[in-house]
Amino acid sequence: MSAMKLSPKDLLDRLVSFPTVSRDSNLPLVNWVADYLKSNGIEPHIWPDPEQPHKAAIFAHVGPDEEGAVVLSGHTDVVPIDGQPWDTDPFVVTERDGKYFGRGTCDMKGFDALAIWALVEAQHLGVSRPLQLALSFDEEVGCTGAPPMIEAMQKVLPKGSAVIVGEPSMMQAVTGHKGGFGFDTHLIGYEVHSSIMHTGVNAIMAAAPLIDWANHRNSENMSAPPSDLAAVFNPPWTTCHVGMIEGGTAHNITAKDCRFMMDFRVVPGEKVSQWKDAYMEQVRLAETRMQAVHPDARIEVSNSFSVPALVPEGGGEAETLVRALTGDNATHVVSYGTEAGQFQEAGYSAVICGPGDIAQAHQPNEFITVDQFNAGHVFMQKLVDRLRI
Ligand SMILES: [Zn+2]
Repeated sequence: MSAMKLSPKDLLDRLVSFPTVSRDSNLPLVNWVADYLKSNGIEPHIWPDPEQPHKAAIFAHVGPDEEGAVVLSGHTDVVPIDGQPWDTDPFVVTERDGKYFGRGTCDMKGFDALAIWALVEAQHLGVSRPLQLALSFDEEVGCTGAPPMIEAMQKVLPKGSAVIVGEPSMMQAVTGHKGGFGFDTHLIGYEVHSSIMHTGVNAIMAAAPLIDWANHRNSENMSAPPSDLAAVFNPPWTTCHVGMIEGGTAHNITAKDCRFMMDFRVVPGEKVSQWKDAYMEQVRLAETRMQAVHPDARIEVSNSFSVPALVPEGGGEAETLVRALTGDNATHVVSYGTEAGQFQEAGYSAVICGPGDIAQAHQPNEFITVDQFNAGHVFMQKLVDRLRI
């Protein structure tokens, strides 16, 4: 690749052309970004996932070889297009009616393109405070790619201090989100004819108290007065939600299996671990009841995802920087999880700020407006200017 600078829109076109659905490889995209950075004199660092050889994160550092960088963080993966009616090719950016259509234009290759642009711009203009780029994978399947990437970054690069996670926020400073974790619960009962159900263990009926426990927690949480940290969220309480259940084979057989998926969205200020412990206590009680009927009955629980909350820092470094660049001084929090909580947990100041509206994410005909993309570009220009002082 010849040494040339691409515009943010050119970069967006290239990034969207790689169909980096989470289950598939993102290596062609990562390798392309690495080559592009190299052609502009920037050393890319690729971290291949040892457990998934078809996936990698990429990060890079520009500016003085010292700590305190601003970190621009995005994810490279996108959600699937399966079953979605698209009017255009999802992996080609199509401009129409002041919008760029394409999978990931909003969530979040628009930001990724702008972040790569900013890094190259900082390299060419020279900066007195370093800038870092961090692009992860597997964000859309439970934010599992960022923690090992953050660990790898800290081994290779001087530690950054302020992280801007560019999830779509309409370029507003989002300073908090809930933590989240999910459980995949599998109850294994004991099959008998339903007429003698008392000699069997019905996995579905054994699951019911666990689900009803969640109903009770929701009622309690809803009616309790919210803490100061929780009050800004919608809803301002921790939610326990069952989104999927399956089990049983016939109306007259006690169900041998029942599986359900529960997820918790925990407000900042409450401990994720306490909710996990409370649920596991219920699981043990349910298992004891099942085994009182048949010793082979049991419950297997696995953790499907776990994302720490982003706790509002109240005048933290990342927030202050983004407020200075955007002029946005209002309070914004969101109820979905992001990699910002993971950076914060690893000792960085973190904030969410990116172009586009989360309402367009994951949709068929996903788009980012040209105005939002341009607003993101202006933001990056201001950021690079600030790093040069
Ligand atoms: Zn995203």
